[in-house]
Formats: sequence, C-alpha cells, structure tokens
Amino acid sequence: MSSTDNRPVRVRFAPSPTGKLHVGGARTAIYNWAFARANGGTFILRIDDTDPTRSTEENTQIILRAMRWLGLDWDEGPEVGGDFGPYWQTERLDIYRKEAMRLVAEGKAYYCFCTPEKLEADRKAAQERKDAFQGYQRTCRDIDPAVAQRRVDAGEPYTIRIKVPLDRGDVVVHDAVHGDVTFNAKELDDFIIFRSDGTPTYNFATVVDDAQMGITHIIRGDDHLSNTPRQIMVYEAMGAPTPTFAHISMILGPDGKKLSKRHGATSVEEYKAAGYDSDAFVNYLALLGWALDGDTTIVPRDVLASKFSLDHVSKNPATFDFKKLDWINGQYLQAMGDEEFSKTQLVPQLMAAGLEQDDDVDAAYAAKPEWFDLLSSILKPRTTLAPEVVEKSRFLYMGEDVEFDEKSVKKNLAKEGARSYLEAARAALEAIDADQWKAASIDAALEPLPEQLETNKRKFYGAVRVAECGNQVSPPLGESLELLGRNVTLARLEKALPLAE
Ligand code: GLU
Repeated sequence: MSSTDNRPVRVRFAPSPTGKLHVGGARTAIYNWAFARANGGTFILRIDDTDPTRSTEENTQIILRAMRWLGLDWDEGPEVGGDFGPYWQTERLDIYRKEAMRLVAEGKAYYCFCTPEKLEADRKAAQERKDAFQGYQRTCRDIDPAVAQRRVDAGEPYTIRIKVPLDRGDVVVHDAVHGDVTFNAKELDDFIIFRSDGTPTYNFATVVDDAQMGITHIIRGDDHLSNTPRQIMVYEAMGAPTPTFAHISMILGPDGKKLSKRHGATSVEEYKAAGYDSDAFVNYLALLGWALDGDTTIVPRDVLASKFSLDHVSKNPATFDFKKLDWINGQYLQAMGDEEFSKTQLVPQLMAAGLEQDDDVDAAYAAKPEWFDLLSSILKPRTTLAPEVVEKSRFLYMGEDVEFDEKSVKKNLAKEGARSYLEAARAALEAIDADQWKAASIDAALEPLPEQLETNKRKFYGAVRVAECGNQVSPPLGESLELLGRNVTLARLEKALPLAE
C-alpha cells in the first residue's frame, strides 16, 4: 500500500462489456475484491461502456452474472448504487465534458484544430528529421484562448489535448507489483483527452472516474501499464492525488502463449457450465500470480479476503494449469458435508440432467434429504467435477428395468453359477424387513454368501452388482441397494435371472 495515501481504501473493477468475463478479468476482479476486503475498504464495480460499437447490455448482464457466481459482492455499482454514481461510463459523459472544460479554463488543456492530414504530415516530417520527440508537435498549444474559443464557437472541428508541462521530466510509476517503472519524458506528448466527435478517450474518462470515485489503488492487467504515465498526467492536471498502481501479469496457456480458446475454456461462464465449484474456481484463480505463502494451495475465500496483499503478487506471468484447477475443485468437494454436496453439486446436476424433475434445488432436496445425503456420501469421494455424478446416479432412476451394459452382463452374469448367486442374494435380501432396509443390514446379509456358495467374492458381487446396477462400475453395493429400495432391488434380481446361467 502506498504510504503517502491515507485515504480509506477504495478499489474498482472496471470491465468493458465488449465480451464475456474472461479468466484474466475475473482474476483482476478477485484481486480487487480481496484487497478491499482485506483492508476494510470499498469494492466498486464500474461498467466501462464508452465503446459504443462493441459494448452491449447483454455482455453487461453476463459479466454481472459471472461476478455473482464468483461471489464477488460489490459495495457500489450496478444494482446496488452508491454515492459516487452513475456507475456506467455512458451515463457520465457530462461529467467528462465538464472536467475537460475545467482543464481548458485553467490552461491545463487546450483546443486543437489540427486536421488528421496535418498531423500525419507533421509525424512524417519528424520521422524524416529523426527528431528525438516524435509526438504531437504542440501546434495549437499556444493559440490565444480567446481566439481558440471563437473558432470553437464558429463550429470548427476540434479535439481537446492535455497540456503536459514542458519541464515535466520522466514519469516514474511506483507500481506495487513491478516496482518503479520509468517512462521517458520524450514519449509524452500532449495527447487527446476529448475526440472531435465529443467523446472522451479511455485515458481521460478512466482518470476522471477514478479521481471522482476516490479510488486509492488501481489493480489491473499489465497490458495497461503503458497507459499509466498518460493517466498520471491527467491526475496531475486535475490536481487529484495519484493512486497506487498494481499491474498484474498476463495469464499464459500451458505452451507459454497468452491464454486463449486454443488452450480450453476462457470465459467464467464456461467454467460455471462445466460444473466447477465457484469457491474452488476463485481459489484457483487467486493463485495465478498471488500466493499466501510458499506452498498453501487451498486458500478458502475468507482467508483470501483477510490475507490478500499486493506484496505477494508476482510480476511474472502465470500459467493456467487445468489439472491443478481440477485437483483444487476435487479438494473443495471432499471438504463438503453431505448436505452441502447434495445442495450445491448433486441435486443441481441431477436436475440439469433431467433425472430430478423439480426446478428448484431446495424443493427437490427437501423431498428426500436422507436419500440425497446417502447418495452424496458414496459419490463425493469419487467426484472431481460435479457432472460426474450424473452417470453414476443414472441406475437409481430406472425403476425395475435397469439398463444393462452388454460387456458387464457377459463378464458377470452370463457365467456359470451366476444364477445361483442371484437366487441366494434374493433369499438373503428378502429376509430383511422393509424397515431394516439399510446398507449395513444389506451388506451383512450378503457377506456370508460367497463362502456358502463356494465361490469367490469378485464373482458373486460382480453378478449381483450387474443385476442391480446394470454395470460393474457403480458405487458401493450396500448403499446402492438401500437407495434403490427393497422392492426395486428384489424386482431387479428377478428380472436379471434369465440373463444368468
Ligand atoms: N475498461 C478497461 C478494461 O477493461 C479498464 C482498464 C482499467 O482498469 O483502467 O481494460
């Protein structure tokens, strides 16, 4: 944190709604959110929608949905409001205009009437002369303000340029991640803050907003590092305190190239649809460039929100590791209680697959909480990613007529002795009363049978499992039969008999 900045911490995430929320943007949002939470600060969401050709309301909604799914609650911004709004840049155009006019009136900015042709000719000439300074030649900088105003009033097209002090010298960005980064004064020209079409440039609108919204720390992708010296010029012209900057590294794919669709999913939406747990996903993204310490991989949201700090952010590019994400997701699932697993993973997946008909998770769960929790208890240890539960649960939704996997039938049922296994199992299971129908009593009833039948366990359980579940890869048998219920279990044995030898 900047030692010179004693203002209460205010940070912002300012996506442009020109597309979906990508993992890089999500990580920027997470860092801003965590930084605000760790410092008792305010997290602001601002929609940078000044690019009218590419910004859409639909993208804004996608971004808001993604933010909500990530659990990144914002204190000010769309839907929640706040004292520093509006929080859409397109609704702030008057504010930018007013600020630009103030700078013109104070001599910190000026009207420029140079045509694109003149600018091009000046640029070429500077190149040919091999000038050290190749930027705007400051042609209109010294036009008498009264004269300039008359030309504006007469309808002459103009832009507004910032007046960078001639003796400004190099600009040093004190970046919390990169350290001091020096930009040569020669690279700074009197750049445009207002275009001839009356719209502000990014470097101007952003600074006006950040200054007026009292932003103390700007945490964003390092693709914006090169904009920062210009933005500092705007802060200085406005007489506003310069915030602390923290530019975070790029995210690379496993091949060392910038993460893109070629590597896999890049939008938050796709990860949600793939069934990732949002806490696990946030944990994973937070570690792309930040570390709690040397080796902790599981950093729950509350730890992130209390321990995040910029001095643990790396300036090196981070590599997206799909396997590590899956591993972390699995760890989060394993740490859940059965009820949580049921409500956040199992039931939603069964609903999405059409196995559960309800369209409300809580209502579906409330109909048979013990049943779901028992199923969760056997599936959870075998699950890395939620959708895996669907195929493993399907056999429970087939009534008396389970679908048989041909290979499993061939290997386990169409085998000498299998018929006697099923008959023995049926007799043992029939002897269990309906109110005793529990995994433990089912296991206990089957347990002595292989020995009595003088066969090995693998053959015996293989036959019963295929008769009940249709295949050999189903979850533990006792629990599976408890979940099926006594009637269905016995009916399935009956129906499998003709397949057994
Ligand atoms: N709207 C800009 C972007 O999405 C924000 C950059 C910034 O944080 O200043 O890249």
